[in-house]
Amino acid sequence: MELILDLHLHSHFSRATSKNSNLEGLYKWGKIKGINIIGTGDFTHPAWFAEIREKLEEVEPGLFKLKENLAKKIDEILPSSVKNNEIRFILTSEISTIYSKAGRVRKVHQLLVAPNFETVSAINDQLSRIGNLKSDGRPILGLDSKELLKICLATSKELLFIPAHIWTPWFSLFGSKSGFDKIEEAFEELTPEIKAIETGLSSDPFMNWRLTSLQNLAIISNSDAHSPEKLGREATILNCEMNYRDLAEAIKTNDQRIIGTIEFFPEEGKYHYDGHRTCNVRLSPPETKKRGGICPVCFKPLTVGVDYRVEELANHPFDYQPEKHKSVEYIIPLLEIIAELKKMGTNSKAVQELYQKAIAAFGSEFDILRRVPLEKIKNDFPELAYGLERMRQGTIYIEPGYDGVFGVIKLFETGNQRKEICGQMSLL
Ligand SMILES: [Zn+2]
Ligand SMILES: [Zn+2]
Repeated sequence: MELILDLHLHSHFSRATSKNSNLEGLYKWGKIKGINIIGTGDFTHPAWFAEIREKLEEVEPGLFKLKENLAKKIDEILPSSVKNNEIRFILTSEISTIYSKAGRVRKVHQLLVAPNFETVSAINDQLSRIGNLKSDGRPILGLDSKELLKICLATSKELLFIPAHIWTPWFSLFGSKSGFDKIEEAFEELTPEIKAIETGLSSDPFMNWRLTSLQNLAIISNSDAHSPEKLGREATILNCEMNYRDLAEAIKTNDQRIIGTIEFFPEEGKYHYDGHRTCNVRLSPPETKKRGGICPVCFKPLTVGVDYRVEELANHPFDYQPEKHKSVEYIIPLLEIIAELKKMGTNSKAVQELYQKAIAAFGSEFDILRRVPLEKIKNDFPELAYGLERMRQGTIYIEPGYDGVFGVIKLFETGNQRKEICGQMSLL
């Protein structure tokens, strides 16, 4: 069965997160968004893990549901259009490793997915001897990422170890500031154990396919949400059985069970282009090159974004596509579409009201963005239908994000069309 997964997100025990990032909040928003399997995030945090054990119960091997009494209270306030969406949780966490290797400081994030409570306990037990797991839901460990992989492999063959948002400048495998140029530089002889990578919001599969070294790995996408409303900004679509083993095997083998990913337009990501946020400088990779990587305002090195970095490490040209590849679908969060339509902020009352009306009328956000026929929406919400049509066709204009500033999407203004790779593609 086709399942939508969002494995990477954070609880309220992580820094800079919403207080609603609890299991009830994730359950509620998972239903509204139309996600089938949601990561718990932060399983390394002792208090959060205790909460997970208390509030979730295993339904299928390795997949959990919110206990009935808690679920019922939330279902009561949800519109009937999404009330019956089934939600499963899966045990996940992100770990930040900071260490020095080959004469440079490295800061790399990785995503862990675990098959059961026992494995989480065993991992937490070992990591608690290396660093403080209580200080942050995403703990910082002074540990080589290869050593972390070793610990994971020794603990359970079923664990998934996935380098997170691999292109972001500051905390990732290929990051321009503190990453590596090759997977082998980080993981050496254990490189074959890396079976999947996460694109992050600022890159998409097309950018990743430009590296031959990534072509046989599973490419997965997740929201990295710091509040439950941000769930499903990106997601992965699997066609597998409803249990941990089948899901993990699909990701490890990258076989036909992985259908593809649902993507943020990468230009909208916070680190797509290069620049300096405080200097108000945003540059495209060729402009950065022309200026020798130096900011024209403060004359310090620019924060080099994902687009530049891909260009630097890729061995295929920018329009390259492998003959066979997974499907890629681009979406814009529904709240953002409505906000542009109304020319108001996403938190304004009018925008929130229209969002709720649309959900009540047509079902989950993913259904609205991906599936509901526009004819059906046109009657009551003609402008929304027009915006969705443009999004589905990829006829949009974006000011790319840079140095921590999100890109700005324009659906309703005429501007340059995005490059032609947009829209839905499915070649298997
Ligand atoms: Zn991260
Ligand atoms: Zn500057």
